[in-house]
Amino acid sequence: MFQTKVIAIPVLGKHSVNAYLLLGRQPIVVDAGTPGSAQLIYDQIASHGVNPQDIHLIVVTHGHVDHFGSAAELSRLTGAPIAGTSPISAPTERAGPVSPYLPIGLFGRLLVRSARVRETTEPFGPDLLIRGATRLSDLGVEARIMPTPGHTAGSVSVLTDHGDLVAGDLVATPFLGFGKRPANPPFHDDRLGNLASLREMLALAPTKLHVGHGAPLNPEQVGLWAAAEQRRLDRLAVRGRLRTKSEPAA
Ligand SMILES: [Zn+2]
Repeated sequence: MFQTKVIAIPVLGKHSVNAYLLLGRQPIVVDAGTPGSAQLIYDQIASHGVNPQDIHLIVVTHGHVDHFGSAAELSRLTGAPIAGTSPISAPTERAGPVSPYLPIGLFGRLLVRSARVRETTEPFGPDLLIRGATRLSDLGVEARIMPTPGHTAGSVSVLTDHGDLVAGDLVATPFLGFGKRPANPPFHDDRLGNLASLREMLALAPTKLHVGHGAPLNPEQVGLWAAAEQRRLDRLAVRGRLRTKSEPAA
């Protein structure tokens, strides 16, 4: 079987915001960074010896602006169609986060005030609407797009047949890419739902997790963290202290 190679494309800092280049028989891109990053991503694709015009697909893992910010522009530069679960559009000509963020912890509460996370960008279709698990073999990559709701309702991950999981914001490292241990990203719409999706993906025995914010994580370490996080969230839920988007605190 042709092994798909997963290459991080740092968009901000060393690991603060990552897009990914997946090299199968054909190349695809997963996530498209912050607004204004298309040329940087394009140049990094080329620096790996790949003609950006050969990119067959841009998968957007979810509707946060640090993941879809340059999707429309990158699509125009490369000619690649965009796959996503819903149209990223806004009442205006610009697209921003699909819905307000539900912060986790102090860092999330600080970040939610930052103009950066409310940035808007060019809206897009998507050209390929993801409606469930989707094989990418026809596009030249032995991998599947997997629905992993929770971080946002429409979040997806990409799992290669060799076990590399490009996980979007299912899990991160602390403070958007600093530190090496698993941690929550600053926001989740539904923390229990996200954790259920993460544990579902771990049950498929991935070999490595490639995250939107941070260096790659090993699944054993993430499994231990997820088990501890489950116990913590269960305790919060019992005490009625677990907010989700659908059940905001009174
Ligand atoms: Zn996110």
